Amino acid sequence: MPRTALLDAPATTALRMEDVVLTFPDGDGRVTAVDHVSLSIDRSRSLAVTGPSGSGKSSLLAVAATLARPEAGQVWLETRDGVVDLAAVNPRRAAELRRDEIGIVFQQSNLIESLTAREQLEAMAWLGSRPSRARRRDARERADELLGVVGLAAAADRSVGALSGGQRQRVAVARALMTEPSVLLADEPTSALDSESGQVVMDLLLSTAREFEVALMLVTHDATMATRCDAQIHLVDGAVTKATGR
Ligand code: ADP
Ligand code: MG
Repeated sequence: MPRTALLDAPATTALRMEDVVLTFPDGDGRVTAVDHVSLSIDRSRSLAVTGPSGSGKSSLLAVAATLARPEAGQVWLETRDGVVDLAAVNPRRAAELRRDEIGIVFQQSNLIESLTAREQLEAMAWLGSRPSRARRRDARERADELLGVVGLAAAADRSVGALSGGQRQRVAVARALMTEPSVLLADEPTSALDSESGQVVMDLLLSTAREFEVALMLVTHDATMATRCDAQIHLVDGAVTKATGR
């Protein structure tokens, strides 16, 4: 995919959070899961979110994924229709944005066992609409292209039950890229894998972020993985205690 014409273009911010606060009910009170966090990620760049268990990493990612609505702050996402504040959209629009504009990869690949690797990806293009014949063909082409990118072209027709954990996670990364999202959100995507498969998935996340000009937000408790990202924030009790990189 030639992208050279864009090399000199100024970087665009795909995701920007401003002073985000998210709390959950906790007994008689509330627990602050995200405590006045601000961050931004440009397209093609990566941000690692680190911190101990319970520090709010997944909560922060859930806000960026529209899976949790913050009670304060703004979450600006670059979409095909311009910049949208995820903190202010209604649930229906949030679901559309999740489907069309946001790629998400979790610790478990959450693939559908009965489908082949290619069908997992094609299914993304069918969500929410009845596909025309042309769209089906486009979906198949993009699915095959992405399976090639993640090194699984030869496994396109295999059911995911026949794939290893690392291969499944590579399918999950390819699936997350199907709708050409501006951001790719990954929550501990390698923590269920052995270190070698984990490295492969990490390499893939970083290389696809650059190749497809996607902003990558990577939640990890693995310091080695985190240092491979362009920037890092460290959370303690929901608040940023350290920020490195640009
Ligand atoms: P991490 O991903 O860093 O381990 P989490 O974002 O999962 O941290 O959790 C941050 C805090 O928010 C913790 O105190 C956790 O118990 C709380 N929390 C997270 N999700 C929920 C929820 N759905 N309901 C209530 N409390 C939650
Ligand atoms: Mg978590």
